Amino acid sequence: MILETKNLEFSYPDGTKAIDDVSISIPEGKKVSFVGKNGSGKSTLFLLLNGTLKPKSGKVLLDGKEVNYSSSGLRELRKKVGIVFQNSDDQLFAPTVYQDIGFGPLNLGYSKEEVDGIVGKMLDHFGLQAIKDKPPHHLSGGQKKRVAIAGVLAMDPDIIILDEPLSNLDPVGADEILDILNELNDLGKTIIISTHDVDLAYKWSDYVYLLADSRLVDEGTPGTVFSKEEQVRNSSLKSPFIFDVYKELEKRWLATGNEQPKDIP
Ligand code: ADP
Repeated sequence: MILETKNLEFSYPDGTKAIDDVSISIPEGKKVSFVGKNGSGKSTLFLLLNGTLKPKSGKVLLDGKEVNYSSSGLRELRKKVGIVFQNSDDQLFAPTVYQDIGFGPLNLGYSKEEVDGIVGKMLDHFGLQAIKDKPPHHLSGGQKKRVAIAGVLAMDPDIIILDEPLSNLDPVGADEILDILNELNDLGKTIIISTHDVDLAYKWSDYVYLLADSRLVDEGTPGTVFSKEEQVRNSSLKSPFIFDVYKELEKRWLATGNEQPKDIP
């Protein structure tokens, strides 16, 4: 399933231009990051990609077909393109974890038995059985994020978009979420995240889009996009830490007088 945009434009009612002429074709089945500093347009683009916002001009296309903004068209889009918001509290609203995860499938018209089956699988898979009757708002940040992802996955989308999925998580919680994302990608799903963390984008992604000031600056493998130092700096980002390490090592190699030493000094 290929998600594309063509010359996408969006401004908020107060006149802020948040997406400016963005054309992309997101590689299928890959781990994809949208990288940019705060305010560069990542969240707005994601809301356009799953039809929560309607473009001012330009198009969003799924498998070459332009999104239809009727309620049935949007239901169809959201079945295939799931979104996990940055703030889990914006996503979780049902009285219990169980009901929250079941909300999507119930809305899609599945029977009570089918919903029970789907939710049961999600609770097992995400290790949430013990807290299934708890109100989502009483959970830890990592648990909330897992419930939010389970709720989206319950609709079995081909493409899962996550806005800053690791923000506000401790390192263990963040690793758990990354493991889940990798596992979902292994199952063939396209995983799209936004982040301002270049180190995360560099180590995790197959493909990177660089956004600055509402526009697409560059796209490609993380190595290619991040090795262009000037464009990274101009986008108000830092190069990945590993690049600094390479540079430092190179300096030390050169200081040894050997151009290509076999051992790192
Ligand atoms: P990011 O996700 O990269 O932080 P956003 O998509 O949230 O970027 O923001 C892009 C631009 O749109 C910014 O200038 C931001 O201030 C503006 N913006 C975001 N949400 C709103 C809104 N609801 N109303 C007006 N402007 C907004």
